[in-house]
Amino acid sequence: MKLIERNEGYMLTEDDLIRYGRQILYPSFGQEGQEKLKRSHVVVAGLGGLGTSASIYLACAGIGHITLVDCDRVELPNLNRQILYCEEDIGEKKPFSAARKLAKLNPSIKITPLFERVTEDNVRDIIGGAHVVIDGMDNFETRFILNSACVAEKIPFIHGGVYGLFGEITTIIPGKTPCLACIYPAAPEKKLKPLPIFGVTPALIAILQVTEAIKLLAGFGNLLTNRMLYINGEGMEFTIADLTKKPECNICGGSKLQ
Ligand SMILES: [Zn+2]
Repeated sequence: MKLIERNEGYMLTEDDLIRYGRQILYPSFGQEGQEKLKRSHVVVAGLGGLGTSASIYLACAGIGHITLVDCDRVELPNLNRQILYCEEDIGEKKPFSAARKLAKLNPSIKITPLFERVTEDNVRDIIGGAHVVIDGMDNFETRFILNSACVAEKIPFIHGGVYGLFGEITTIIPGKTPCLACIYPAAPEKKLKPLPIFGVTPALIAILQVTEAIKLLAGFGNLLTNRMLYINGEGMEFTIADLTKKPECNICGGSKLQ
């Protein structure tokens, strides 16, 4: 994990103290926590239901730099859950549409929109230098690419996944916790394509992902590491399962992180 460096240019302004006043009041966070968020760079990989919801709360919280990456354009069936987009945005490139809305919400932060598909060739350029990567993907192929790159770059990866009214989340810290390949040696089989989904499920998981990101970046609280939280919205059951690192994992196992 990269240490967030102190830098005079990232001191809080008078406006910051007002805008973030209610969270600065939180004793274990305070001005120091807010400064750390201001110096942070978070990559939101995927701007669907998870990514749009996550990016709103990252922007509200005052994450200093947010990179938004997606290779799709806004379509009508997105609008039941991808809450940064309006009907008038249909056809627009998602990262640019999202960046425009977030800049209105919080003009004091830097937003970098990238209209790109995440591949093995460009992933290190996209996430390099980030402090956290938020998994907003809808497919395991790309999740595995992000996971491998995050392990290699030692960047925390906050995994989220959704299906219908079911969701899951865990925080992966390279070198310390199981990586996504330890948890899923192969991509789980998709029952239906496209996946059935209600808007509330990615919203719920995304808010938990951002909660993890805020604690991780500001350095307080306990993280959802070595554990997966499973949410069953149909039965309204929240369960946590322990996860174990696989020494033989071909991504994070053996001597790869020594
Ligand atoms: Zn692993």
